[in-house]
Amino acid sequence: MLVAENKYSKWTVEGDLKTKWICGCRQTADDYFKFCNAHNETLKKAIQAQIDELDMAIG
Ligand SMILES: [Zn+2]
Repeated sequence: MLVAENKYSKWTVEGDLKTKWICGCRQTADDYFKFCNAHNETLKKAIQAQIDELDMAIG
């Protein structure tokens, strides 16, 4: 029972909130981040840009 509860808490992104920004981004007490739609897009683009740079460096 205790193990199941521990797993559940690890898998849950929506834990206790540590920080909540006005835009909707959130950080939980477990240091999970949940981004709002606007910053989620920004983050995706930033990651994509890094992957592109990596490809160029390898190639
Ligand atoms: Zn945001």
